Amino acid sequence: MFKAVVIEKSADGVQSVSVRDVADNQLPKGDVTVRVEWSTLNYKDALAITGRGPIVRSFPMIPGIDFAGIVESSQREDIRPGARVILNGWGVGEKHWGGLAEKATVSGDWLVPLPDRLTSRQAMEIGTAGYTAMLCIQALQREGVTPDKGPILITGATGGVGSVAIMLLSRLGYHVVAVTGRPEEEAYLTALGAKEMLPRQAFTTPGKALEKARWAGAVDVAGGTVLANVCASMAYGGVVTACGLAADMSFPSTVAPFILRGVTLVGVDSVMCPRDRRLAAWSRLAELIDPVKLVEMTSEIALADAIEASAALLDGKIRGRVVVRMS
Ligand code: NDP
Repeated sequence: MFKAVVIEKSADGVQSVSVRDVADNQLPKGDVTVRVEWSTLNYKDALAITGRGPIVRSFPMIPGIDFAGIVESSQREDIRPGARVILNGWGVGEKHWGGLAEKATVSGDWLVPLPDRLTSRQAMEIGTAGYTAMLCIQALQREGVTPDKGPILITGATGGVGSVAIMLLSRLGYHVVAVTGRPEEEAYLTALGAKEMLPRQAFTTPGKALEKARWAGAVDVAGGTVLANVCASMAYGGVVTACGLAADMSFPSTVAPFILRGVTLVGVDSVMCPRDRRLAAWSRLAELIDPVKLVEMTSEIALADAIEASAALLDGKIRGRVVVRMS
């Protein structure tokens, strides 16, 4: 038996969630079984656990879109028992049992080796949010956004993606401007490396098709009107990476930023991201991450606390990252 968060749905469609024992023989098919050491609570996990978003595709489901741990058994030559591995995405925690459990069986194709410089806990302090932040930054770099081009705007700054993006971009020498709905977190954002702060409200009401040209790059986790206003205020040739929908799924923009300022909008997906990009992102994260800042932006909870913490995360009461300790 192993402990897990389990989401169930009754015949009349009511969702319930509990932390309970699950038998090993109920684990899904897969060629590698991992003893999970650390998992995390991501935005998507919180939506799944609270039922506030249609994340779970089949029931019962163990949520948890990421984990880090030690291979317990493997039918693969290239992944041996005792190896330390990381998993992000691939529908795990959505349609395949996930990481908020002491044990997970998955396809070996989905696993990446833990970089030498990182511990399992650090990998989950980074988590899918931090790995997505790295994918956004690598997209900005591929599009030629260098620090000398101008400031980079980060929305949802105190959240998981935002916090890691600020830490990494400031380490890389970019001038980071943080957009937040939590002005009381100014000291936290400054410590991570943000040079300026803007209130979220400046981006939440519909603006003009083109605003004052200001940003060379942007990492947007919000979507909706926020993303539209970010696009409208990009400098000529600016690059926006869009990875989230914390505000809204919509995109009420015009083509003006794209056809009059040559702005590029790059979509970033971590779930089905090809393996070579994952490996490159994790390798770069291991080089760039500041372990002290990482600890400072992270709260640690036990598996049993994951349900309560999910509501708090969606209600904007949690800052930075949340790691989940297995027993
Ligand atoms: P968090 O909950 O940690 O952070 C989200 C932040 O967004 C909040 O802390 C808040 O920051 C800000 N925010 C909340 N509500 C609003 C709103 N209505 N309008 C504008 N900003 C808002 O989540 P994550 O950082 O982990 O994830 C952020 C988004 O990115 C989510 O939508 C998530 O689903 C998505 N995501 C996508 C991935 C992908 O593969 N594309 C992978 C990982 C995440 P503040 O208070 O500072 O304003």
